[in-house]
Amino acid sequence: MTYLTIPISGKDLTSCKEQITAAVKTGAEMLELRTDYIEALNTDKLRELIAFAKKTALPLIVTCRDTAQGGQNNLSPAVRGQILTEAIKLGADFIDCEYANFTKKDFGEAIQKALSAASKTKLILSAHNFNGAFEDLDSIYEKMFAAFPAAIAKTAYQANHINDCFTAFDILKKYGNKAIAICMGPAGIISRIIAKKLDAFLTFASVEENQTTAQGQLTIEKMKKLYRFDIINSKTELFGVIADPVGHSISPDVLNACFEAEKMNRVYLPLWVAGGQMEFNEFLDNITTRPWLDFRGFSVTIPHKTSALEYARAKGEYIEPLAVKIGAVNTLTIGLNERITGYNSDYAGAMDALTQVMGIKRKQLHSKIVAVIGAGGAARAIIAGLVDVGAKVTIYNRTVSKAHSLASEFGCHSAGLEDIEKMDAQIVINCTSIGMSPNADASPLPVKCLRKDMIVFDTVYNPLQTLLLKQAKQAGAKTVSGAEMFINQAAEQFKLFTHKDCPMEILHQATFKALGEK
Ligand code: NAP
Repeated sequence: MTYLTIPISGKDLTSCKEQITAAVKTGAEMLELRTDYIEALNTDKLRELIAFAKKTALPLIVTCRDTAQGGQNNLSPAVRGQILTEAIKLGADFIDCEYANFTKKDFGEAIQKALSAASKTKLILSAHNFNGAFEDLDSIYEKMFAAFPAAIAKTAYQANHINDCFTAFDILKKYGNKAIAICMGPAGIISRIIAKKLDAFLTFASVEENQTTAQGQLTIEKMKKLYRFDIINSKTELFGVIADPVGHSISPDVLNACFEAEKMNRVYLPLWVAGGQMEFNEFLDNITTRPWLDFRGFSVTIPHKTSALEYARAKGEYIEPLAVKIGAVNTLTIGLNERITGYNSDYAGAMDALTQVMGIKRKQLHSKIVAVIGAGGAARAIIAGLVDVGAKVTIYNRTVSKAHSLASEFGCHSAGLEDIEKMDAQIVINCTSIGMSPNADASPLPVKCLRKDMIVFDTVYNPLQTLLLKQAKQAGAKTVSGAEMFINQAAEQFKLFTHKDCPMEILHQATFKALGEK
């Protein structure tokens, strides 16, 4: 079992007790009393707090952290030693003592003596690095176990990049329930979730966002509701969205809701892979050389869609032909023997969104006259899909040279954005960010160009109803929103990941809920 542990970090006993009560309500599985947070700490306060916490019947860790390792209130070694030995006498289930202090003669001996006199309390030995990864993580664990073989060994270090997390995973793979390995900071978030899959002794979460005791700590609500903590076990398959930045992505909300609805033992994670091709390659290498992590698929988005294509190409893996033509892979699956396959669900999502509104099959887009506004990544995917089925496309772009080169690559027409007024199309697709929040009062198309026999498709989904879509509706045109494209590409990814049809109603609900919240 991996205990979902809530650090209690009140400055006084009243707020500690409130935090304990709230932690129990939200489903905490263990409490860590961070006594170093309590002002004017003494053994009377400790006694009262432990007595209160024991009423919850949850296992209890008592910590009195040294300031040198992230503690509060600059407590002296004498006070810290006294608090820890008293906690042992009071029957705390665990005490957490810094390995660096445990190896100091007087301090360590006092703790050992108290432990050997007590029948109940177990020792957690810990080491912290708030600047970055430890140089030789394995040797730290070896030293801790050598110092006290019955200890649970814990490290918490700052992950300056998601690639720093993998040594922590190796430790958990090796020691399982005897170890805790936490990567702090936003790049380390996944270590807090994956800990359970790798059978770590515990992982931390907070009740409220403003009560975190370390950077990157998630709330218990996010752990349980969004990242499905309760269902995670050693067999859980992992998926995620690779992006930089990743915080804005609604994919975890949406894909996890679908996994939940289908009762699948799968979890979808935000994977902040900062940097370019090199960091992307390193990340994928880290994944594929650790098959026991059971990563089975990725959504890939800005700025890594070309990196994903190049990675798969360099490894000689299969890439869907249209993804090669588009020059971007936004979905990777990992199959048997860690073989990777690359797809592009953006074009499929856009084509499906369009054909659903028109009530036609993809091939019936043949000969339709389409104006695509924009010549970036989204435009490229949509143009490739349209040209593939024989639509007649004209590309309009602010930077006309980009429109020309895309048009010559895909065999379509092109013009500058200023010529959009002359267009005469059955379908208009906005693939620029014009109209996107916070500039929601802009539209790429003058109202006079809108007709009721047109289909108007805006790939922008923030806001859900862009000015272009509102004006198109007023003109009596049929409209397709960016959210519908997102939903269809997510459904396609779900199918590629799971080989099952996506629960569309859940997907719709989760998408609109997440878009409303972000
Ligand atoms: P991109 O590669 O950066 O391309 C941006 C495009 O927008 C370029 O054609 C650029 O023209 C044009 N543009 C940007 N600002 C402009 C302005 N002020 N005036 C005129 N043109 C402007 O971006 P992308 O990945 O293609 O994304 C484009 C849009 O598609 C975004 O709004 C995004 O939200 C949307 N999208 C939606 C989905 C979905 O699932 N619904 C998926 C992907 C993308 P220049 O070439 O002249 O710079």
